[in-house]
Amino acid sequence: MKLQRPEEECGIFGIFNHPEASNLTYLGLYALQHRGQESCGIVSSDGSSLHAHKSMGLVADVFGNQEIFKSLPGKSAIGHVRYSTTGSSVIKNVQPIMVDYSRGSIAVAHNGNIVNAQIIKDELEAYGSIFQTTMDTEIIVHLLATSKANSLLDRISDSLNRIKGAYCLLFLTETRMVAVRDPNGFRPLCLGKLGSSYVVASESCALDLIDAEFIREIEPGEAIIITNEGMTSYFPLQKANPTPCIFEFVYFARPDSYIFGKNVYQVRKEMGRQLAREHQVDADIVIPIPDSGVPSALGYAEESGIPFELGLIRNHYVGRTFIEPQQAIRHFGVKIKLNPVREVLKDKRVVVIDDSIVRGTTSRKIVKMIRNAGAKEVHVRISSPPTSYPCYYGIDTPNRKELISSSHTIDEIRKYITADTLGYLSEDGLISSVGTENTSYCRACFTGSYPVKFPKLGIAPQLDLFEKELPEYE
Ligand code: AMP
Repeated sequence: MKLQRPEEECGIFGIFNHPEASNLTYLGLYALQHRGQESCGIVSSDGSSLHAHKSMGLVADVFGNQEIFKSLPGKSAIGHVRYSTTGSSVIKNVQPIMVDYSRGSIAVAHNGNIVNAQIIKDELEAYGSIFQTTMDTEIIVHLLATSKANSLLDRISDSLNRIKGAYCLLFLTETRMVAVRDPNGFRPLCLGKLGSSYVVASESCALDLIDAEFIREIEPGEAIIITNEGMTSYFPLQKANPTPCIFEFVYFARPDSYIFGKNVYQVRKEMGRQLAREHQVDADIVIPIPDSGVPSALGYAEESGIPFELGLIRNHYVGRTFIEPQQAIRHFGVKIKLNPVREVLKDKRVVVIDDSIVRGTTSRKIVKMIRNAGAKEVHVRISSPPTSYPCYYGIDTPNRKELISSSHTIDEIRKYITADTLGYLSEDGLISSVGTENTSYCRACFTGSYPVKFPKLGIAPQLDLFEKELPEYE
């Protein structure tokens, strides 16, 4: 069986040894909802067996009923929110995955994307493994089950040393919770404490909600095992130079989170300041495309001295699907989310700040919307460089050919989105905003230089798997 599109953007949360473990996991997932809105799930342990509840939908909808927590007993739990991707939005692919094998039960929640997944899967199937899902995460479970090693840590390191790519993982067994971050440290993962209970979360905003204390980030290549005896840290994986994902700062993480040693809000605001230095323009107001453009727009306004205004208002309660009326409504898709404030925009020269242009369709509709609301000029500023290459490490980006900047010049994009001017933050500007003190970030989406290479074998299945071109091989 072919794997479908890879496991994309996700959020994970776990808590060990707390009387309200599953309820707190629900809250943790609630704070991580921005990392995935397609489906969610929780697995708890009562010390002798695991219990699961998972479903398609938002966290508040899936876990809104208190009765559900009666079916998730025990003092430890892990949870997962999964982003919407086409092709694999089916209930069997909802995480955490839970299995019984010869050594007991184990559940796993995964954020990231394994680049040699199909090859390992083909191998496992050749030896008789039967897969239940089309997720790359299930490979890890099969590798664990087939490992001959005696300790759980050795089985985990055996398995993970065979896989390549991006992964933050949370494992739960009857008596242990294990957190692992891949050697490149692509995705964020942090450790906290609530009283005597350990907490692990994709982003620190999940710790804040449950009043847990932030202890530190889990390091690239680190595995943490938590038992009733306490926490132990190991480095069982082959070393690599850490390359955390810079796009987490640009778009994905929540601004109140602390990731890769920085507060996301402050980094985004600095990107806006730098954007103003690089792409000045005479204008009357600076407006963000809410919500992701807000901190950068504040930075741009501060640096340029042009007043910050809210010219577009976002409806925060938009569900996943809505039925378009038969009578066509102009820019319906964007209007559902955003509406202009005419009184703010009328007769103004407007600088609009967004974090990225992917296909260009949203920017085009927004520029038109701002003009229709009476703006005299629309100057689009993007707080990251052109996104020209797909991500294979867990951000949901389309095929290369669908990324407008892979085949169009900046002026062609400007024309397409019908802006008066268009300016992107430079790569150097982005790096100086983020800071390069400790680490060199993965910027493959901007540069096409991929830090973890793709396996040569099985190129064809890999192509199917990703539905994207693979630009570099081992
Ligand atoms: P478009 O250019 O129409 O494809 O969409 C651009 C918008 O998508 C920007 O406003 C971004 O904030 C947002 N965006 C960027 N990357 C992603 C992503 N990986 N998933 C969802 N939305 C994204």
